[in-house]
Amino acid sequence: MPKRPYIVGNWKMHGTRAMLSEARTIDRAAQRHMKVEVAIAPPYTLIHPVHREAEQIAVGAQDCHHEESGAHTGDISAAMVADAGGKFVILGHSERRQNHGETDSEIKAKADAALNAGLRIILCCGESEKTRDSGKAVSHVKKQLKASLPQFEDSSEDISERLTVAYEPIWAIGTGKTATTDDIAEMHGEIRALLISLYGEEHGAEVRILYGGSVKPENAAEILATQDVGGALVGGASLTADSFMGIAMAAGEAEES
Ligand code: PEP
Repeated sequence: MPKRPYIVGNWKMHGTRAMLSEARTIDRAAQRHMKVEVAIAPPYTLIHPVHREAEQIAVGAQDCHHEESGAHTGDISAAMVADAGGKFVILGHSERRQNHGETDSEIKAKADAALNAGLRIILCCGESEKTRDSGKAVSHVKKQLKASLPQFEDSSEDISERLTVAYEPIWAIGTGKTATTDDIAEMHGEIRALLISLYGEEHGAEVRILYGGSVKPENAAEILATQDVGGALVGGASLTADSFMGIAMAAGEAEES
């Protein structure tokens, strides 16, 4: 059965307890739009409070450490995310890669740790403007993914339930620019082929590939109707229930058409 579109809000470093009412509103609205799977990744401090309030949406983290515990000041482990009620973790976001120097091999280690802790993962990839202009976007993204995707030793594992990929061109994040639907379709097609080659048709064809980069209610329908787009990873527009659920509604409509 095809999976529901997956709309995930990345709140980044936004949100104090005052934002809990927004999360509540998102949760109530998601209960009326069950054709779409809605989730949010607030700052760590809000994972447990959102988990306690939410009846429909899943809550997750924006990163985790690859070790279970230890002398890592300021870090958080996957087991801690799960203990707080988190169900998934976003890994390899370009802001982590750029601002914290995260490498593909570290991201792979984090992915393994998150899966071991029972979390689902959303693994991000994407190219810079310079890489796109040089015509190397596809090879860059495939190289990133090959080096950071987890292996899944257990063949009975439901890989497509545990893994989501998010394609986020860096130049489109928070800039108001979006990739063209032709470019999105090309990249998502390449990612799909890679997933099938790594995990086989049964799993690789089912893994959802999200698009991220300045998705808003106004452009969501067109993006979400693009071949191989299984949902959206949303930054700025996920901070209010109105705009975030506008995107979720567009996803529901794209599903029906
Ligand atoms: C993101 O940070 O994952 C993102 C897609 O941000 P925005 O929607 O603000 O471009």
